[in-house]
Amino acid sequence: MKNIIFIAPPAAGKGTISARVCTEYNIPHISTGDLLRNEIANGSKIGLEIKDAMAKGEFVSDEVITKLLKKRLSSKDSKKGFILDGYPRNIMQAKTYDNILKELNYEDGLVVFLDIDKNLAMKRALSRVVCSKCGLSYNLINKEYAPIKEGICDNCKSPLKTRSDDNEESFINRFDTYMKETYPLIEFYEKKGNLLKIKVDDMTVDEIFDEIKKVIK
Ligand code: AMP
Repeated sequence: MKNIIFIAPPAAGKGTISARVCTEYNIPHISTGDLLRNEIANGSKIGLEIKDAMAKGEFVSDEVITKLLKKRLSSKDSKKGFILDGYPRNIMQAKTYDNILKELNYEDGLVVFLDIDKNLAMKRALSRVVCSKCGLSYNLINKEYAPIKEGICDNCKSPLKTRSDDNEESFINRFDTYMKETYPLIEFYEKKGNLLKIKVDDMTVDEIFDEIKKVIK
C-alpha cells in the first residue's frame, strides 16, 4: 500500500510533486479542500453547514472532515494507496488520522516533508502561474518550469492565471499559519519514524521525485 502525506509550506512544490507520484503509482489524489468543495457544489446538508467557514478560509470542523475523509479513504480506489492533500493540518488532526488508518486497517504510510527557505518560497509564490483548467503550476523565474508559450498551459492549452492567494501579504499569512499549526507535525512523525525530509531549495523536480521513489521502493 502506498499512502503518502506531504508536509510543506506554501510554494514548496507539493502540487507538482504529488501529481508526479499519483501518475507514477496510479493512486488517487485526495484533497480535503476538494471533498469539502464537492459537498458545497452538491448542495448537501454538510455543504450548507460549511459554506460560510470555507468562504472565510476558516478551518472546517473536525467532525465534518473526519466523516468525509473516512468515507473517501474507504472507497475501493484508495485501497492500494493515495496521496492525501490538505490533511492533517495540526497535531489533533494527525492523531485523528492515525485512528482512521487503524480503523481501516491501513499502514502508517510515508510522510514527506518538503523543506524550503522562506524567502525562496515567497519568490516562487510571487512568480507562479497555474492552469485555470488542469491546475498544473508553472514558474516564470525559472526557464525550466516556465510554459513553452507565454500564458498558455503546455498540457491542456488553457489560459494560465495567477492564484488569488499568491501575493506577498497572503503568502506571509499562510506561511505563518503553517509554522504555527502544521510544522509541529515534523516532530510528531519523526518520533513515529515514517518521515522523509527533503530540503528542496536547490533540487529539481526530477531529483525530488527520485528521492521519494527510492523510499517507496
Ligand atoms: P485547500 O483546498 O486545501 O486550500 O482548502 C480549502 C479550505 O477547505 C480551507 O481554507 C478550509 O476552510 C477547508 N479545509 C481543507 N482542509 C482542511 C482541514 N484539514 N481542516 C480544516 N479545514 C480544512
